Amino acid sequence: MPAPPIREKLAILADAAKYDASCASSGADRRNSLKSGGIGSTEATGICHAYAPDGRCISLLKVLLTNFCIYDCAYCINRSSSNVRRARFSIDEVVKLTLDFYRRNYIEGLFLSSGVIRSPDETMAEIVEVARRLRLENSFGGYIHLKTIPEASQELIEQAGLYADRLSINVELPTDEGVMRLAPEKRPQTIRRSMAGLREKLEAAAEPTLRTKKRSRFAPGGQSTQMIVGADTTPDATILKTSARLYGSYRLRRVYYSAFSPIPDSSAALPSMKPPLMREHRLYQADWMMRFYGFDQREILAGRPDGMLDLAIDPKLAWALDHRTIFPVDVNRAPRELLLRVPGLGTKAVKRVLASRVHRRLRLEDVGRVCQSIAAVRPFIVAEGWSPGGALDSERLRETVAPKAKQLELF
Ligand code: SF4
Repeated sequence: MPAPPIREKLAILADAAKYDASCASSGADRRNSLKSGGIGSTEATGICHAYAPDGRCISLLKVLLTNFCIYDCAYCINRSSSNVRRARFSIDEVVKLTLDFYRRNYIEGLFLSSGVIRSPDETMAEIVEVARRLRLENSFGGYIHLKTIPEASQELIEQAGLYADRLSINVELPTDEGVMRLAPEKRPQTIRRSMAGLREKLEAAAEPTLRTKKRSRFAPGGQSTQMIVGADTTPDATILKTSARLYGSYRLRRVYYSAFSPIPDSSAALPSMKPPLMREHRLYQADWMMRFYGFDQREILAGRPDGMLDLAIDPKLAWALDHRTIFPVDVNRAPRELLLRVPGLGTKAVKRVLASRVHRRLRLEDVGRVCQSIAAVRPFIVAEGWSPGGALDSERLRETVAPKAKQLELF
């Protein structure tokens, strides 16, 4: 059968890549090819940023090298037993597409993943070759995120780090049992070993060398991973526990949560419905609480016996409503850690509160100027001239501070 034309391949392989959530380029450092005479830059100017309605970054050319795959992961549309149209790019085609799209300012970089063809090593070698040609033969200075194949050799994964801004290795599912049941060819131990190898390499590269006193360049955006949510019955508490372990053990920059999408002709082991997208959103909020607000994963779900996040309100507000005795927090005296626990106060708002209160005692209006909604914050703080009185004891507090439910539209 003749190979489909490149436009058709692009339609197939870009569509096949849409299940990969790991596409944020925020971890990249600044790269500019003005001096090298090449093309591309991750400087702020001239970069086209675009976000899909669900908040995902789409300013990268996000494609698979191929959607042929010798593995048969039950949750994946590209699994070997799936009846989908297949296509395969050559290395040259991906390089050319990336450069063409970049020149037209359609993208700020490349996100490249692949099904496994022939062997993990052969597939990984092709992924690395795309990045090598972009960087070394075309002086490409844009962002490159490579999805690595955990079963590939450590040498190949390390080579990928020489050219990529960020590397990711998917843990796939939150538990080892889930991986073994739904992705029988994958080994959780191998995935962890590859992540540990990457962590070592990243840490070594972060140390200045004795001779040049410079740090070597190796995947400056670090490593990330993706977990599919809702493909099995794993509760949010276990998902967050796995994320906390991944952040702690492998120093990941990000764990991405990807709501399971039902696929055609899928295994009976999979649910027929996708989980609510809000579940993915709440997991990101809880993840943020662990990374930036100092919450332990066990605290976040302590008040939820079913181990599931409340879909109706954000987890920080849910935690505050369950721990009313620590509130109100005095914005003029409380330490940073306590201020970060106030619903509606993020890291930037807390920084501004701390900086402003050095000069004067803050009133409610001052706090209102640094946060998005003073209505959400008001019941949980004390400020100059303001106390929430009995608001914290009110049975209607949740109603008062929770976002109003929206009437769904029929059309
Ligand atoms: S290895 Fe990747 S592409 Fe292949 S079936 Fe599994 S998840 Fe899909």
